[in-house]
Amino acid sequence: MSPKKIVLRFPSQIVDKPLIYHLVKDYELMINVLKANVNPDKEGFMVMELSGEPGKYEQGLSFLRKQGVVVESLSEGITRNVEKCTHCGMCTSICPSGALYISRPSMEVIFDDSKCVICGVCLKICPVKAIEASVNGRQ
Ligand code: SF4
Ligand code: SF4
Repeated sequence: MSPKKIVLRFPSQIVDKPLIYHLVKDYELMINVLKANVNPDKEGFMVMELSGEPGKYEQGLSFLRKQGVVVESLSEGITRNVEKCTHCGMCTSICPSGALYISRPSMEVIFDDSKCVICGVCLKICPVKAIEASVNGRQ
C-alpha cells in the first residue's frame, strides 16, 4: 500500500515507550517521521508517513490505540478564518509549536503557518470554529 500520512498524539505517561520499534519489528511497517515533538512528562506528537501490508497496517494502528495513542489523519493544511476569529487566545495555550501566539502589546492572535506541524489540536478548542483543515480522510 502507498504511504499514508498520520498524526500520533502520545499522553505523557507513554512517551517513553518504544512504540515505533514495535511498529517496525512486530508489524513490519515502514515509517518516515516528518515531524516530532516528544518530551518526558509532556504530551508528545509525531507526524509520519506509514506504509506496509494492509492487514498489518491496521493491526499496527490498533496496537497504538490500545497503548493510549490518539491516531488521526494528517490535515493537508490548517487555515484560520480571520473574519471569525475573536482573538480569545484559547488556541495559543495548546498549540505545541508556537504557530499560534499572542502578539504584544496589541494582544492580537497571530497564526504563523511556517511553524504549524498540522497536529490539529487547535481545531477542537476554538469556540467559534475559526480554524479549518483540509483532511485526507480518517485513518
Ligand atoms: S495545527 Fe493548530 S495547534 Fe497544531 S501546530 Fe498547527 S496551529 Fe498549532
Ligand atoms: S481559539 Fe479561535 S477565536 Fe480564539 S484566538 Fe484561536 S482562532 Fe481565534
